Amino acid sequence: MIKVRHLTKKYGSITALDDVSFSVKKGEIVGFLGPNGAGKSTAMNIITGYLSSTSGSVSIDGYDILDEPTEAKKRLGYLPEIPPLYPDMTVDEYLDFVYELKGAKQKKEAHFNEICELARITAVRGRLIRNLSKGYRQRVGIAQALVGNPPVLILDEPTVGLDPKQIVEMRTLIQKLGEKHTVILSSHILNEVQAVCGRIIVLNNGRLIADSTAEHLGESLGDGRTLLLRAAGEEKDIQAALQSVKSVKRFSKTDADGDTKAYSLTLTPSESARSELFFAFAARKIPIVEMKNAEYSLEDIFISLVNQKNKK
Ligand code: ADP
Ligand code: MG
Repeated sequence: MIKVRHLTKKYGSITALDDVSFSVKKGEIVGFLGPNGAGKSTAMNIITGYLSSTSGSVSIDGYDILDEPTEAKKRLGYLPEIPPLYPDMTVDEYLDFVYELKGAKQKKEAHFNEICELARITAVRGRLIRNLSKGYRQRVGIAQALVGNPPVLILDEPTVGLDPKQIVEMRTLIQKLGEKHTVILSSHILNEVQAVCGRIIVLNNGRLIADSTAEHLGESLGDGRTLLLRAAGEEKDIQAALQSVKSVKRFSKTDADGDTKAYSLTLTPSESARSELFFAFAARKIPIVEMKNAEYSLEDIFISLVNQKNKK
């Protein structure tokens, strides 16, 4: 659906994007993850045809964004980092304006009813945009992207500036949009993209440094997988159980809370580690209270990825 080939963008001496290539299939929800200045907005502006690249190409559903911009743009809905909202228009007037601008063909009333319902802005359609909260404005920005029902949605930091409740609502909305659209969204927050994206593309200093599933990104950290395990039992029994499992390379106690003790385990790559652990603990009659993959921060991921690149 989206093909990005060898995209490079230079602003004078600054290289904002450096030979970035990837493809997105129909129906995928892909996250652009990277710190501020990584090149996320630049990439999105080029993909949507708002900015030209220094070199490289972008095609949307087979249409090159430079050679056939009208056909390509028809297939795109874009929520830029700073949505171009008109404060003196009501929501309906603004959507009308976007409808005309895009030359959309849908039956207007039914179409607007549908997208306003989806973006949950039906109640504020008659209000001036200037009087809307940040959360509602962001939703109007999404509704605007949905005008004309484009198959591809590009959302630049859709949760920035929202409060925790609005963030959860926005996530739910994006997941819903992902049922019918191909979506790329950007964020500098790891949890954000992990929560909604099946696949994560990591950008740093304009370079694509990782492209994998959210799960694999975690797994690629460190030498193997890290698992957090909490069990109720005597320390020496727990340690004996851990030592008996071959795929546990090493472990360290992270905390003790009353009767339970938590351990961080480094595992060799193995499909069966979890079941081996389960049976080893069951054989010793030690209840496992909790077992989960360790969670990583964006910082952990960058340090690990950059170290891996340096090793190569
Ligand atoms: P992100 O969206 O990941 O925060 P950007 O794409 O906005 O990153 O920026 C990437 C790099 O390009 C940064 O170093 C930024 O300072 C630079 N940059 C972005 N826009 C411009 C511009 N119009 N002129 C000069 N440099 C720019
Ligand atoms: Mg940005």
